[in-house]
Amino acid sequence: MGHSIIKKAIKEGRTLLTETEAKELIKEAGINVIETRLARDKETAVDASRALHFPVVLKVVSPDIVHKSDIGGVMLDLKTSAQVRKAYDEIMAAVNEKAPKARIWGVSVQKMARPGIEIIIGVSKDPQFGPVLMFGLGGILVEVLKDVSLRIVPLERRDAREMIKEIKAYPVLEGFRGREPADIPYLEEMLLKVSKFVEINPEIKEMDLNPIIAYRDGGVAVDARVVLEAPEKNV
Ligand code: ADP
Ligand code: MG
Repeated sequence: MGHSIIKKAIKEGRTLLTETEAKELIKEAGINVIETRLARDKETAVDASRALHFPVVLKVVSPDIVHKSDIGGVMLDLKTSAQVRKAYDEIMAAVNEKAPKARIWGVSVQKMARPGIEIIIGVSKDPQFGPVLMFGLGGILVEVLKDVSLRIVPLERRDAREMIKEIKAYPVLEGFRGREPADIPYLEEMLLKVSKFVEINPEIKEMDLNPIIAYRDGGVAVDARVVLEAPEKNV
């Protein structure tokens, strides 16, 4: 049992999946993911940008880096091949300086998603209750104000609905002051898919879709992080 991406990582002794691996994995769980490609060098990144159509985003791909933007590893809204080449060089320079020991596999090239409401779905494991799902709005709302809701896996539709409604920032999802609302049934569906996914993949220790950009119709995950259980638990 277990997924091939997970198996490969375990075989290589890794517990952190790269963004591109994590995205591939959650895509198979039926979650909408922004189209993303791995490029191992600069010119491949340019080719991928052209194929995906500008504007694009470049991010460092490394099995050793958890928070990509903290070290200058994310460049948004690149509109030309020249900007992509420059961003590639800047990312490599920043990573070389801030994480000199990290193994670098290249960059991910992805479409720049249009703005919407940034939400977070997270999974962590409680020693007693097992996987716990977290829902909140992106940015300072989660990190500073801890405005999140939690539920134990497996979730039912009603749990998903309540989870979304009980955060303090809920009015933002309804379209605060004429701004675009979020597709709440769609977010419920995403929570249920994540719940099902971690239920059938016990090798997953932690998972973050941070952020998912939510729109009036649907939504898309633009970043994904998956941490696997330590090897001894996976034999
Ligand atoms: P980190 O590893 O630092 O969490 P992210 O991949 O989440 O890096 O990128 C940082 C931020 O950049 C995100 O929170 C989001 O606001 C923005 N972002 C990332 N990818 C995209 C994208 N494809 N389209 C639009 N915005 C993006
Ligand atoms: Mg992120």
